[in-house]
Amino acid sequence: MTNFALRHILLSSIFHAAILLSAVLLTAAQAQNPPAQPAPRPFATPPTASAADVANFPPQLLDELSSIKTAALADDYAYHQLSHLTENIGPRPSGSLQAKAAVDYVAAELRQLGLDVQLEEVKVPHWVRGAETAELTEFPGQAAGTTQKIVLTALGGSTSTPAEGVTADVVVVNNFDELKALGHDKVAGKIVLFNELFDKRKAAAGMAFMAYGEAVRYRGAGPRAASELGAVAALVRSVGNADFRLPHTGFSYPAGIPAGAVTAEDADLIAHLSAQGKVRMRLTLTPQKLPDATSYNVIADLKGSEHPEQIVVVSGHLDSWDLGTGAIDDGAGVVVAMEAAGILQKLHLHPKRTLRVIAWMDEETGGSGSQRYSKDHAAEFANHVAAIESDSGAAHPLGFEVKMTTHAAELLRPVQEILQSFGASVVEASSFAPGADIAEMSEAGVPTLGLRQDGRTYFNYHHTAADTLDKVVPAELRENAAAMAVMGYALACMKDPLPR
Ligand SMILES: [Zn+2]
Repeated sequence: MTNFALRHILLSSIFHAAILLSAVLLTAAQAQNPPAQPAPRPFATPPTASAADVANFPPQLLDELSSIKTAALADDYAYHQLSHLTENIGPRPSGSLQAKAAVDYVAAELRQLGLDVQLEEVKVPHWVRGAETAELTEFPGQAAGTTQKIVLTALGGSTSTPAEGVTADVVVVNNFDELKALGHDKVAGKIVLFNELFDKRKAAAGMAFMAYGEAVRYRGAGPRAASELGAVAALVRSVGNADFRLPHTGFSYPAGIPAGAVTAEDADLIAHLSAQGKVRMRLTLTPQKLPDATSYNVIADLKGSEHPEQIVVVSGHLDSWDLGTGAIDDGAGVVVAMEAAGILQKLHLHPKRTLRVIAWMDEETGGSGSQRYSKDHAAEFANHVAAIESDSGAAHPLGFEVKMTTHAAELLRPVQEILQSFGASVVEASSFAPGADIAEMSEAGVPTLGLRQDGRTYFNYHHTAADTLDKVVPAELRENAAAMAVMGYALACMKDPLPR
């Protein structure tokens, strides 16, 4: 995910608005089982299939879903694909040669599975990282003749300093109000550091995306706000959860000034020294913005046997940041979507509706891939039965966040029952699209689902050099593939398409 900043902010709000659908389902179950005397306690009532459940998911379909689950939980196709994407191809930033190689590779692999593959052309930003160094050249208590190294990385879209760097006083603010209070006189000519903390307690409590949403606003909009007050450069405290002195890159709105992320440790250091007196920094960031490049969404159809015009999308994004190799963000999402189709082919199961695998391009630096798809396919959205994206890592899946009517979500109860055996039965309602690349479809009324993993450690590695294959546990990736494949096939085969 991650990821295109604003949309992620929206995603974080999911947690404000979310309700536990299981509670709704329980109420529905009670309604369908009129209470005897005395009223039965919910925990004393075995689940019973309603008439709608049986009609939508006849016994043969339930058997097929169970077979898919069992097969996916024992299959290493997704892991094998992820190891190729991350280790053989490597980082896949938009516009890069590796992104192009990844498009060709995924397209070829999906053809190999027997899918009908199209490449959808899209113009993407092409920004290339350069030198990135910084040191404090003046600070309280400085030993004569020394400087202090600051660990940082450029934010996507950052402009360049001169090759010899820019040297300026640093001003530290904790939020936008403090910046505003300083005003132009105290900001002009300075390097601004936004020192907004990532709330680790929320992350530890399973609310990592809310913590991310709160802090990432400064990465997204901070440099522009600093630039408007005359700052010569802007830095943000890295938006992340671990203390390994790792800088986290990410999208930032073009601000016309150099913009970077310092590690949490270095943000603390600068804040502490600034509280004691004047701090001056030499900052060198020399990224380049090259002309937009041509790239592609990979779109691969496993044609429906009864309703080929009706489409269920399973997806992840193929581009990644450049520091790591894009294993958890979001190679994992792409490969579990690939496996959703692959496992059906392996089991010779034919979806009634078309299962469409999409490997999105350019989620991280602007979302041009999903915007292209929305333009090209808007007329077909009435026939897009549902769309799933996985873009929050590869850890154990808990289930799905869904944006659809309560009635539509209730119809998924038999699928929840199947996913429960490996802990992926959550179906949680959200008022926001549960994936950046499926947001426009969601706005157009398509029921959308986001595969939701245990996110407690996701932001330790997200957008850092440590987003690498070793962070993916093969058994957990298999669980993700099983959840995606079961839900994808269920949506493609249930008797009626999900209501809107
Ligand atoms: Zn992502």
